[in-house]
Amino acid sequence: MNKEHGEHAGDCGAAGEPKEPGRGKPGAGDFIRDIVADDLRTNKWDGRVVTRFPPEPNGYLHIGHAKSICLNFGVATEFNGKCHLRFDDTNPAKEEQEYVRSIKDNVRWLGFDWGENLFFASDYFDRMYEYAVQLVRKGKAYVCDLTADQIREYRGTLTTPGKDSPYRSRSVEENLDLFERMRKGEFPDGSRVLRAKIDMASPNLNMRDPVMYRILHATHHNTGDKWCIYPMYDWAHGLEDSIERVTHSICTLEFENHRPLYDWFLDELGVYHPQQIEFARLNINYTVMSKRRLLELVQARIVSGWDDPRMPTISGLRRRGFTPEAIRAFCKRVGVAKMDSVVDVALLEHCVREDLNRRAPRVMAVLRPLRVVIENFPEGKVEEVEAVNNPEDAAAGTRKLPFSRVVYIERDDFMEDPPKKFFRLAPGREVRLRYAYYVKCEKVVKDEKTGEVIELRCTYDPATKGGGSPDGRKVKATLHWVSAAHAIEAEVRLYDHLFVKPDPDDVEPGKDWKSNLNPRSLETLKACKIEPSLAGIEAGRRVQFERLGYFCVDPDSSAGRLVFNRTVTLRDEWAKIAKETAG
Ligand code: ATP
Ligand code: MG
Repeated sequence: MNKEHGEHAGDCGAAGEPKEPGRGKPGAGDFIRDIVADDLRTNKWDGRVVTRFPPEPNGYLHIGHAKSICLNFGVATEFNGKCHLRFDDTNPAKEEQEYVRSIKDNVRWLGFDWGENLFFASDYFDRMYEYAVQLVRKGKAYVCDLTADQIREYRGTLTTPGKDSPYRSRSVEENLDLFERMRKGEFPDGSRVLRAKIDMASPNLNMRDPVMYRILHATHHNTGDKWCIYPMYDWAHGLEDSIERVTHSICTLEFENHRPLYDWFLDELGVYHPQQIEFARLNINYTVMSKRRLLELVQARIVSGWDDPRMPTISGLRRRGFTPEAIRAFCKRVGVAKMDSVVDVALLEHCVREDLNRRAPRVMAVLRPLRVVIENFPEGKVEEVEAVNNPEDAAAGTRKLPFSRVVYIERDDFMEDPPKKFFRLAPGREVRLRYAYYVKCEKVVKDEKTGEVIELRCTYDPATKGGGSPDGRKVKATLHWVSAAHAIEAEVRLYDHLFVKPDPDDVEPGKDWKSNLNPRSLETLKACKIEPSLAGIEAGRRVQFERLGYFCVDPDSSAGRLVFNRTVTLRDEWAKIAKETAG
């Protein structure tokens, strides 16, 4: 077996990706890269470029996060800047170490490196508290005793202004005292909050005195029981960016309405003030992308875990056989825009196909075996035929395959009573066994009880060795095969879309998104026959099974057991779609 190219951390920008598309060249990238290039030209940030990828460690990363990772780390790399990996761990209830570990692992696997710049928002709790006290002193924040429901009620709606909280006019002294006592743990959960004093009539609901701190007596994975008040996202996030001296705080479109608040907090504090820029989040059809839903699939055991190969998680895609190069190429093709859209999953599959076509060795495997006895081939004799490892890569060379009297072919490649357009094997018909010989079907053996075809009796033409015919005789099909005596058994898992509808939310009244789960998203084939060159292949290795698709060795494999995941079939739906829309 020839080795695949490496996929180690730090090889970002590898494999044909231009390293510096945006640098100094406006218009060479997308609107975000244009902003960064402009800022460098005007020296807005003293020549610095600092971005960040700020996941909340409450789930595994998905392909949408990959878009954000490629963007943030990509911009930093292209403009000689830095990208921080920051865990936005301000919520004590949901966060877990397993998620922190998986997120780091995923970012590295994707080919990016945060170097020294690993941060945890919870490390800033002290400073955030000090900043909050500063706003209270300024008369810009107050302790409010309204219940959550009352706060909602007082907030008003898009068409009606809000009402001032009766606690809005508390004195600075009283607010300082109450806020400190909130911190000390004197009050129960939910009894009080700290709110910014902005404008209850603002047309932007986010500006109607948003909550900054809530009381939550909960243990935090990093700070333990030190805190019983925790900062809300809008308050915390800008401070995190400011403390880390981020230049471009890139986030998804739903935060556009939060930008005035982001700016208000930093302006009121008079601290370092990064620029928030929004872009459209990635959506893909036939799947769900919210962490809450992905968690539900895991917890309800609808999938085998976060890394189930049907999941749109990075761990799932990796296990399925996707390469980091393919995911990066996909993110690049999707691009960065200001308009929300849904990307066809066929494009993602196209990208991995394109990558694996270049690098995956070709091998032969029969998924649903049908026994073929070649009657005129001597019993006990084994011949070697030569097979090309990768027609796309001359350096990949060739290998020898054993050929013998009994081989397996794919059940689908034979029909007893073929319709007009079926050109593969049928009674009396001759086909080519790839790299081996022409064989002709002489007889069909059936199970006496069920009538099922259980074996074919064939003859071969010794003059056609290698798969060519000296007399120019043509055959209409070339089949893959595996020598029965030499085959390795394997389990093969075939995957289909996780949902039957492009939009999982397209449901009948009274049903939820789970009613659209695809009951056939996983098909397991237990007794597949694989060519012997794959003996001892390690988990994670990727191959093309000729005519069938790309497959990856699953970590469930062990010394005596080989398990493959089908990454994608060979049929390029995207090419078809692209052609249709072009024509
Ligand atoms: P979810 O809504 O699925 O829980 P999230 O946005 O809350 O996701 P975070 O951990 O906060 O998840 O996300 C980290 C970063 O990834 C954020 O900057 C967020 O904007 C970005 N991100 C999340 N989902 C997508 C997506 N679908 N496309 C692009 N970027 C995304
Ligand atoms: Mg979030």
